[in-house]
Amino acid sequence: MAFEGLTERLQNAIGKLRKKGKLTEADVKEVMREIRLALLEADVNFKVVKEFIKTVRERSIGAEVLESLTPAQQIVKIVDEELTKVMGEEATPLNKSPKIPTIIMMVGLQGAGKTTTAAKLANKLKTEENARPMLIAGDIYRPAAIDQLKILGQEIDVPVFALGTDVSPVEIVKQGLAQAKENHNDYVIIDTAGRLQIDETLMNELSDIKDLAQPNEILLTVDAMTGQSAVEVAEGFNGKLDVTGVVLTKLDGDTRGGAALSIRSVTGKPIKFMGQGEKITDLDVFHPDRMASRILG
Ligand code: GDP
Repeated sequence: MAFEGLTERLQNAIGKLRKKGKLTEADVKEVMREIRLALLEADVNFKVVKEFIKTVRERSIGAEVLESLTPAQQIVKIVDEELTKVMGEEATPLNKSPKIPTIIMMVGLQGAGKTTTAAKLANKLKTEENARPMLIAGDIYRPAAIDQLKILGQEIDVPVFALGTDVSPVEIVKQGLAQAKENHNDYVIIDTAGRLQIDETLMNELSDIKDLAQPNEILLTVDAMTGQSAVEVAEGFNGKLDVTGVVLTKLDGDTRGGAALSIRSVTGKPIKFMGQGEKITDLDVFHPDRMASRILG
């Protein structure tokens, strides 16, 4: 992942201040203008940009900064802290059930990376926590999704519960959960159907699964490469399902960063994981502070 354009523009904007020595309010105003444009060009939500600039400006014209001998460094520090804040401050761990199994429901539009992420997450839990997860194939509308999940399950040696495409997703989940309890699986990860866009039938189906499964975690996968539409999708899903966390996928292909920088503020929901490639191991915990440092370069 590299948000090259954003990094370069932020570095240029702040770099100009280094030559100046002591700063004036006009200098701060100019650099804020450039940071604002850089963020908008990176496809960050305009309300997020507005709030961000306001905070950074207020902090930057504070006496300690203008009178400091190293004002540019101080501004870098402020931008770094505020970028971290915008993305959620600290990494947010998975919600876990006090009693096994912890139930994780994956939701998202078709193609966002739901099925892949379900398997990546199962693998992560298995290898890092020595857990015994089970996957449930609940996407009956895309027959290939069931096979895809079965193949991934075999690859990582995690059982996949499937009943084909003729049984309703709610029934599949019900039977799958019963089996997981019998087998003492400590995590159940439910793959659900997606659509090309949000529609009511899909949302009703997902609500029914949610009511039945009472998941500890509803993870929304969104494609970071789609920028602000990822944010709109997140708002849509969150409005209907009250998700508990977001997985940003395809960050490896995202050159701008708009989704990463907007989703937390717009939806209020934490980004818990990020997908950074197609391999099964390409899923990492999302750390806002590390991401901010990467953005600043
Ligand atoms: P679903 O329809 O939401 O279940 O999406 P899939 O899991 O089938 O993923 C759609 C495509 O995106 C597949 O080709 C995945 O390999 C790819 N994909 C998923 N996550 C990532 C990621 O983090 N990076 C990249 N480069 N590709 C990804």
